[in-house]
Amino acid sequence: MRFLGNAEQSLLVKAAIHSAVGVSGMELSVYVDGKFYPQSEAKVSVFDHGLLYGDGVFEGIRAYNGRVFKLDRHMDRLYHSAKAIDLKIPHTKDEMANIILETCRRNEIHEGYIRPVITRGKGDLGLDPRKCKSGPSVVVIAQPGISLYGKVYERGLKVVTSSYRRVPPQSLSPSIKSLNYLNNIMARVEANQYGADEALMLDIHGYVSEATAENFFIVRNSTIVTPWTSTNLPGVTRETVLEIVPQLGLKAEERLFTLYDVWSSDEAFISGTAAEIGPVVELDGRTIGDGKPGPTTKRIMKAFRDLVMTTGTPIETAHAISQKI
Ligand code: PMP
Repeated sequence: MRFLGNAEQSLLVKAAIHSAVGVSGMELSVYVDGKFYPQSEAKVSVFDHGLLYGDGVFEGIRAYNGRVFKLDRHMDRLYHSAKAIDLKIPHTKDEMANIILETCRRNEIHEGYIRPVITRGKGDLGLDPRKCKSGPSVVVIAQPGISLYGKVYERGLKVVTSSYRRVPPQSLSPSIKSLNYLNNIMARVEANQYGADEALMLDIHGYVSEATAENFFIVRNSTIVTPWTSTNLPGVTRETVLEIVPQLGLKAEERLFTLYDVWSSDEAFISGTAAEIGPVVELDGRTIGDGKPGPTTKRIMKAFRDLVMTTGTPIETAHAISQKI
C-alpha cells in the first residue's frame, strides 16, 4: 500500500471539496426527513405529490444578526396552512422550530433565508392523498445572505397590475401558503414581460389583493392602508408593519381599496420576508407621490430594520431536539 504525500492529499481534499461545492461556492447542508445531506444529494421521490401536484405547504423565514425573526409566527402559519389542506406535519411545532434552528447552525447562518417545505409524500400517479402511505416529507433549506431587490429600492419599484386575478377563497384560500404558486407565477411572468419589477394582483371583484410574493400597502394622509387577508396571504411582515405603525404615531387601517386609491396615494410599498419593505414608485405607468421612495415608507423601513436586528429566536442556543437529529 502506498501512502499519499502531502501534495497529493491536498489535491484529493480539494477534489472532494470541489465535487461537493454548489453554485454558490459552498454546499449547503439540507435537512430531509430526519437526516442532513449535502445539497447535491438532498432529494425527495419523483412520486412525491409535492412534485406531482404541488400538494404541500411551505414557509419563507429570515434570520438576522444570529436570530430567526418571528419563528413562532411562521410556525403558526405553517401549521395553519397544513391543517387547511388536511396535512399532518409529523412533528410538533417545537420540534419543527428546533429542526429549523439546527439547520441554521449546521449552515452557520447569521443572516439568511430559511425554507421549510412539507410535502404530502410519496404516492402513486393518482392525486388521492390517501395513496401517500409513507407520510409527509419534511425538508428544511437554510441559505446564508439574501438581497431580493438590492439597489432597486434606492429608486423604488415599478409595478404593473396583473391581468391574472388572485385565486378567490371560494376556489382555494390565498391564505394557505401551499406549494401551488402558479397563480402568482403567472403574474410574475407578466411583470417580467412588461419589464416591471413586480406585479400587483387584484381579487376577483377588482379590489387590490397583493403582489406576487408580498403584501401591498398604500399611504394616504399619514394613514397606512392594506387589504384584509381574506384575499391574500397573512404576511408576517405585514403583521409586523401593522405593529410598527402606531409606534411611529401613524394610523393603520385594513380595508378594501381599488386601483384608483393606489394611483392617487401619497406612497405605496410592498412587504414580505424576502423583499422586506419595498417602496413602490410607479404603478401602470403612473407615478406614485413624487416618484421617489416616500418619507413614511422610509420611516417604516428603518423601524423594521431596527426590529429585525434586535429581536428573534437565537440560533446558537442548542435545543434538546438537536441531539436527536
Ligand atoms: N403574499 C404572498 C403570496 C407571499 O408568498 C408572501 C411571502 N411569504 C407574502 C405575501 C408576504 O408574507 P411574509 O411577510 O410572511 O413573507
